[in-house]
Amino acid sequence: MITYSFGDNLYINLTNRCTNHCAFCDKGHLQKVVNADLKLKYEPTAAEIISEVKKKEGYKELVFCGVGEPTLKLDVILEVLRAFPKKDTRLNTCGHAYCIYPDRMVAKELKSAGLKKINISLNATSKEEYDKTCKPAFPDAYEKMLRFAKDCADEGIITYGSFVSGFANEGKAKALTEKLGVILKIRKDLN
Ligand code: SF4
Repeated sequence: MITYSFGDNLYINLTNRCTNHCAFCDKGHLQKVVNADLKLKYEPTAAEIISEVKKKEGYKELVFCGVGEPTLKLDVILEVLRAFPKKDTRLNTCGHAYCIYPDRMVAKELKSAGLKKINISLNATSKEEYDKTCKPAFPDAYEKMLRFAKDCADEGIITYGSFVSGFANEGKAKALTEKLGVILKIRKDLN
């Protein structure tokens, strides 16, 4: 399913590939919660997504998601953002953009394409904790994720740093998000 509704929002399922292997990842549970088949037969093109989004109405936010890491499809995200400049848009990401695209200024590109909000799954308050909990594909994922979060906030994108409830010390999470200039979000569900 390329798009699905959850709560007040419309979600775009860009990819099932991911650059993390989180301890709490439960794709089956997520599919039940949103009541949609999230397993993609193939990764949709920007044109397919734009055409599908144009048919939908009455939602609050347009959310780039996946059950995977959406920035693996960065150019698709940028093209879809440019097609809907007036929509309230959000990107839910694990924040590995600077690992996936070491030569691109991704925060700037997202801002220029019109992204309004970004939710970065920080999930940990130290590299050790992050590597243990999220098992990222990149050895420097934690440092680069923090830099990406700060850059997004500095670009003026409304930036949330999220933690899964029960997986991090909330006091330390608050201190880290304040240092980065992002908004703390403790997640209990997909939204
Ligand atoms: S980032 Fe999301 S999809 Fe990827 S492993 Fe973690 S919980 Fe699962």
